Amino acid sequence: MDSTMMDFPLTITTVMRYGTTVFGGKEVVTCAGDQPARRRSYAAVGERAARLAGALRSLGVDADQRVGTFMWNNAEHLEAYLAIPSMGAVLHTLNLRLSADQVGYIATHAGDHAVIVDASLIPLFAPVLPLAQTIRHVIVSGPADDEALAQLAGPGREVHSYEDLLAAAPAVFDWPQLDERSAAAMCYTSGTTGLPKGVAYSHRSSYLHSMAACTMNGLRVGEHDRIMPIVPQFHANAWGLPYAAMMSGANLVMPDRFMIPDAIVKLIETERATVGAGVPTIWQGVLAHLRANGGDISSLRTLVCGGSALPEAVMRAYASEYGVVMTHAWGMTELSPLGSIAREPVGVTGEEVWPYRASQGRLVCGVEGRLTGDDGEVVPSDGKAVGELETRGPWITASYYKDPAPEKFHDGWLRTGDVGSLDPEGFVRLTDRAKDVIKSGGEWISSMELENLLMAHPDVAEAAVIGVPDEKWGERPLAAVVLRPGASQVSPDELRAYLGERIPRWQLPERWSFIDEVPKTSVGKFQKTSLRDRYAAGSLD
Ligand code: ADP
Repeated sequence: MDSTMMDFPLTITTVMRYGTTVFGGKEVVTCAGDQPARRRSYAAVGERAARLAGALRSLGVDADQRVGTFMWNNAEHLEAYLAIPSMGAVLHTLNLRLSADQVGYIATHAGDHAVIVDASLIPLFAPVLPLAQTIRHVIVSGPADDEALAQLAGPGREVHSYEDLLAAAPAVFDWPQLDERSAAAMCYTSGTTGLPKGVAYSHRSSYLHSMAACTMNGLRVGEHDRIMPIVPQFHANAWGLPYAAMMSGANLVMPDRFMIPDAIVKLIETERATVGAGVPTIWQGVLAHLRANGGDISSLRTLVCGGSALPEAVMRAYASEYGVVMTHAWGMTELSPLGSIAREPVGVTGEEVWPYRASQGRLVCGVEGRLTGDDGEVVPSDGKAVGELETRGPWITASYYKDPAPEKFHDGWLRTGDVGSLDPEGFVRLTDRAKDVIKSGGEWISSMELENLLMAHPDVAEAAVIGVPDEKWGERPLAAVVLRPGASQVSPDELRAYLGERIPRWQLPERWSFIDEVPKTSVGKFQKTSLRDRYAAGSLD
């Protein structure tokens, strides 16, 4: 029997219309460094999005075309988030922390027709242009002098001012009816191994993902919030927060390019942010800054943290020193990105909360998970068996753009490349990425567990553990440790003794390296490939 329901498409256009009218009085605030923050109401954002769509149409941007953004987190980027998908084109957020070669490759692979660039990023974007042959229009947001603009000129390419384009465009736009399954936005994985791969989110997947973010079991964002995404808008759509904010009427507090701890703390203080979101290195940096300099973060309801494992010690420190409960979440670009969110089940209290909060969390409704063993057979989700996590659901990619990558999929499930356990209550507990797994004498050692334990040591700021070849055991762990500034010299023996109280002896690393900083990827995660290269080259002994 057919339902009697309307077949009404789930689109970003609906989210935009709702957020910019019903919540037209809400605002997006953009940090301007030492200057007063820029404020813009959602109603104004809605009008400017209409103007942007009209302007892009006049530049020949038609249905299906890709429009890139090379921008920080700011109001104009929000306008692009709304206008580009709603006009039927595809928003393509470019990762500004990649090399020019990589950005050029990604823009060409996606076939970007136009790109909106923050003026402050012109020096980074200009070297991309000779490598990105499909770009016909570069639209500069923010004040730029002639010398800077000249760097963008080139044959077959026009350079425009964002504000001039908007001023010349009509204040209304005839938003088209869209197919909810058509692409709304694209994002490339950061390509820590191999070439970056493109994921194309649909209107439907983005809509459903935003709804999940707003639920009580999701990120709980609502009208009472002032959400501060420190996660860049090019990193899996700032974890979907801009759309979730539009849908729920939450205000947005955008850091623009000021993503260092000092600026983040000031922004929390002045804008009374209630929710922050960022990778662990961000919140570890903010914690160190707060401890050294003080600061008022009492407005925060929570700090959402994902992208890599959040050390329990950091979570405990925020709770005990600042009364802020962190929300650990797991996700991937391929999952739009939300997969699971860590909160203790109702009724769990006291010390019992930590194993739940420190886990990768409970899968949210819409994301199904299972584990597979080495032979690809499904292993039990009993909280004990360990395997590769596979997921499926309406906001999970089923392929990559112009890159089928069959090895990444398995009978309709996405292979996440993450290894761990899954319990009957839906809690994911990761031990490693498959490519980081350390296999010693046939047994697995969790690099994530070693890192989290080490980072709980009072003298350790950062710790990354990699597997290195070993004649006897096949592989053994090597710990690369960054000591806290001003910390007393800690010897490997002391650290081994400390770990020895917490994990079996055979897992203790015998190789230690004290380094100044753990190298990071373009989105702030530990870059273990580079540590392995350094070890192979003999500079990490
Ligand atoms: P990339 O794969 O390019 O680093 P993503 O941001 O999509 O970009 O990374 C997804 C991966 O990040 C996951 O597969 C997982 O390995 C890791 N990850 C994300 N969140 C967590 C978390 N809370 N704990 C541990 N690992 C995480």
